[in-house]
Amino acid sequence: MTDPVLPTYNRAPLAFTHGEGSWLTEAGGARYLDMGAGIGVNALGHAHPALVEVLQSQGARLWHVSNLYEIPEQRALAEALVEATFADTVFFTNSGTEAAELAVKMARKHFHDAGQPHRTGIIAFEGAFHGRSAAGIAAAGGEKLTRGFAPLLAGFTHLPFGDIEAVEAAIGEETAAIMVEPIQGEGGIRPLADEALKALRRLCDEHGCLLILDEVQCGMGRTGRLFAHEHAGIAPDIMMIAKGIGGGFPLGAVLASARAASGMGPGTHGSTYGGNPLACAVGARVMEIVSDPAFLGEVSRKAGLLRQKLEGLVAAHPDIFESVRGSGLMLGLVCKAPNMAVVEAGYAQRILTVPASDNVVRLLPPLTITDDEIREAVDRLDAAATALEAKP
Ligand SMILES: *Cc1c(COP(=O)(O)O)cnc(C)c1O
Repeated sequence: MTDPVLPTYNRAPLAFTHGEGSWLTEAGGARYLDMGAGIGVNALGHAHPALVEVLQSQGARLWHVSNLYEIPEQRALAEALVEATFADTVFFTNSGTEAAELAVKMARKHFHDAGQPHRTGIIAFEGAFHGRSAAGIAAAGGEKLTRGFAPLLAGFTHLPFGDIEAVEAAIGEETAAIMVEPIQGEGGIRPLADEALKALRRLCDEHGCLLILDEVQCGMGRTGRLFAHEHAGIAPDIMMIAKGIGGGFPLGAVLASARAASGMGPGTHGSTYGGNPLACAVGARVMEIVSDPAFLGEVSRKAGLLRQKLEGLVAAHPDIFESVRGSGLMLGLVCKAPNMAVVEAGYAQRILTVPASDNVVRLLPPLTITDDEIREAVDRLDAAATALEAKP
């Protein structure tokens, strides 16, 4: 029988009826500690009172009017993002993949209008993930994403992640942009060294091309800074965000410098839903909470606790785990046991984690997770590992 839902996902046999903070509850009452947060989306956990309040009050007032009209809620969120970042201007989308689409279009349009129409090439990296649209899969280039979907959008070159010499050899007159995640998420929580990010910035400057950062997963406070590139002390020309910014409401954005955005005048791009009043009212509240330095300081402090506990976990279970990597509350357990076996053993202990490439188990908890919940999470992972060790 054909599944009424197109069967593109491998789903766990779990279904939740409600959530609160770092916890999700099934119909039968079983409570799970949520260390995946909807793949890094529920930045403030589930049913955060401030987000419920703004969703309800804006929901009772106005949801959607289209971009035919001024949208004050959209302008307010754009101003907050511009105020807090390198960006001069913002375009709102409903997802990360739509943001990646615009980033590619914006870079090419910039050079087209600047009288360098031959500059269309985009250098990207192996193990990348930029969403599932035609441009997104061409940009990432991985076999798992692209197989069967040819012909792919042209113009992308894929180099080993973080290989600066390979970038030096590939970059040239035809290059419009370098596109990279400061920390690869789907690719297995692989961080780019600060030095490598600085080198990419320098190469873009030397060759007159644009640096596009995909902070869809690592941005919005996840690493303890508002955006991950801040750790390296550099700024991109274009940045995609999504996931955390809506706190669970679909919302994404492209942030850009005035120079990078120079080609995007009236009629060059659009979205029916993107930047609607409801999404932007919620996003503005998320932004207000997450961009507070005290909140970000707490993320860093808690991240230190989680990291230290995970190092202990790895040491206690050398047959199951190999190492911990990542930054802030975006951490990966590199596994020796199959990562799906670890995730599933976690379900039995009522803890939710997310698998990633490179045999990694991802931990992307709500940024609001408490110290007690961190200790509880590591205890549950410890029990899951012990159960796996006991298996023949
Ligand atoms: C999730 C993700 C995307 C795609 O976002 P969607 O909202 O699923 O379209 C793009 N880039 C990165 C780095 C991501 O983690």
